[in-house]
Amino acid sequence: MQNIAFIGIGSNKGNRTQSCLDAIRACASWNRGVLIRVSSLYESEPWGYAAQEYFINCVIKIKTGEDAPGLLAFMQETERKLGKQKEFLWGPRTIDLDLLFFNQDIVDEPQLKVPHPFLHQRRFVLEPLCELEPSLIHPVFKQPVRQLLQNVQDNKRVYKIAESPPCCEQLLL
Ligand code: AMP
Repeated sequence: MQNIAFIGIGSNKGNRTQSCLDAIRACASWNRGVLIRVSSLYESEPWGYAAQEYFINCVIKIKTGEDAPGLLAFMQETERKLGKQKEFLWGPRTIDLDLLFFNQDIVDEPQLKVPHPFLHQRRFVLEPLCELEPSLIHPVFKQPVRQLLQNVQDNKRVYKIAESPPCCEQLLL
């Protein structure tokens, strides 16, 4: 279990909080990974396409023996099991899992780009990420995520709605 990964979780369709918690639970019970940390839950104004529900977002940190494509495959399987429905690019979705960082790796494949190519432009990712690990270095920009958050141009609203939910403490034990 030598790899450290950060995953962004979001939902703005159906029971948004429940979908995020279900995704966290799925990651905690994955036999190829260990859940290390869970951020608070945030509510955030939609990014990209404005005429839709606000999102619930959080970020988790996991340790895994799987490689990045293997982790992405698990994340996509989890989205499918949780009934991911997406109407169009940046439109409403029941659940969305994004691989934000995988160690300090840089991957630029058609099906997998790491660090996630938009993370530095998105306040709803940077806020929970900084809550977990402000000194985490972005391997492309060579800057800590704390600095990326200070410089982000995104003025969409992002606010904490709940501390890391109680069920997550049990998952972390
Ligand atoms: P979306 O449904 O908007 O999250 O986009 C999913 C698509 O993005 C899939 O085809 C993935 O293969 C691709 N993708 C590329 N890089 C990443 C990443 N870092 N995390 C999640 N999906 C990614």
